[in-house]
Amino acid sequence: ASIFAAVEMAPRDPILGLNEAFAADTRAEKVNLGVGVYYDDNGKIPLLAAVRAAEKARLEAMPARGYQPIEGAVAYNTGVQNLLFGKDSALLANGQVVTIEALGGTGALKVGADYLKRLLPGSTVYISDPSWENHRALFESAGFPVETYPYYEASTRGVDFAAMKAKLESLPAGAIVVLHACCHNPTGADLSDTQWDDVVAACRSRGLIPFLDMAYQGFADGIEADAVAVRAFSASGLQFFISSSFSKSFSLYGERVGALSVVTSSKEESGRVLSQIKRVIRTNYSNPPTHGGAVVAAVLNSPELRQQWEDELAGMRDRIRAMRTGLVEALKAEGVAQDFSFVIKQRGMFSYTGLSAAQVERLKNEFGIYAVSTGRICLAALNNKNLGYVAKAIAAVVK
Ligand code: PLP
Repeated sequence: ASIFAAVEMAPRDPILGLNEAFAADTRAEKVNLGVGVYYDDNGKIPLLAAVRAAEKARLEAMPARGYQPIEGAVAYNTGVQNLLFGKDSALLANGQVVTIEALGGTGALKVGADYLKRLLPGSTVYISDPSWENHRALFESAGFPVETYPYYEASTRGVDFAAMKAKLESLPAGAIVVLHACCHNPTGADLSDTQWDDVVAACRSRGLIPFLDMAYQGFADGIEADAVAVRAFSASGLQFFISSSFSKSFSLYGERVGALSVVTSSKEESGRVLSQIKRVIRTNYSNPPTHGGAVVAAVLNSPELRQQWEDELAGMRDRIRAMRTGLVEALKAEGVAQDFSFVIKQRGMFSYTGLSAAQVERLKNEFGIYAVSTGRICLAALNNKNLGYVAKAIAAVVK
């Protein structure tokens, strides 16, 4: 018999399943709000002009494709560090930050998780309730038990911070806490600056290991403003981990460009930690690919391209905000009595709309509008052409 004879079919990824159903839908007016990707006002994934310019220059230079260092290129890793910590960071000046180029934010989480499993084999990982669905799977596959801390409060469509804080303050020393640095996925509900200070204090008093996931820097209020959590932890004197990604902010999804950064207590410690992380990388994929990181580094290190990128990023951010406001206004205009103003307060690509699974099902069946069954929609999939249609459909199912 085949060695695969008894292999079971793994459950389908719920969001990829949604995309398949959407692709098979023949209705012209169909809209996919289930995605986690930024689309422009024409419903297309943009290729940023700054990226295009850097790619053109790279193509013309025709660089040889030798192996990269295990940790990726210095120019790239330095660029990442400056975005996360600010270029005047004392941690950077002291050599307290180790950064490696990773295969997207997912790859950064995976390298971080595998390294943490070697460092703290008996630890438990805590993720927000709810969280990006891959967080649990990633840390479980690294061998950790994964539990949750309270986060979203359905009645306010915001964060139940008192419950979150109480839980963090009850965790055992050495517990790993995964925190969404900004633009929480899936809820769109973020912590305030003072709440971040409280989270830092809880991590310090309990001896927790913070792992910040920063997949959307620049999508809420701006590159600097969105780094508030990183900066709060940087000022704390604690050791912590950050996974970051350029998938969204550079619209480079398929190039897999991300980074893992680890804050240590000294330059000497950084050297030892890096040597161990390199072992993890070496036995997984050896070293990162060249193209995506080279493009990002070229943009970050050229004053003109960097300005162009910042302008384009601001354009994406502003368009999402306009869609948030537009949706709330359109729902009002459709005579929806329910208050949807929370959509404007939520940040990043997503909103937990409060739509029930049954209402989401009706949106699909009656209107060809696809959303996640939890009620999560991607605001970046709305545009001036489909906004009115989506608002009408939501109005029909909530009335
Ligand atoms: N973390 C969160 C919270 C995300 O939402 C995502 C992407 O959707 C990622 C990490 C992974 O990003 P990447 O596509 O760069 O692997």
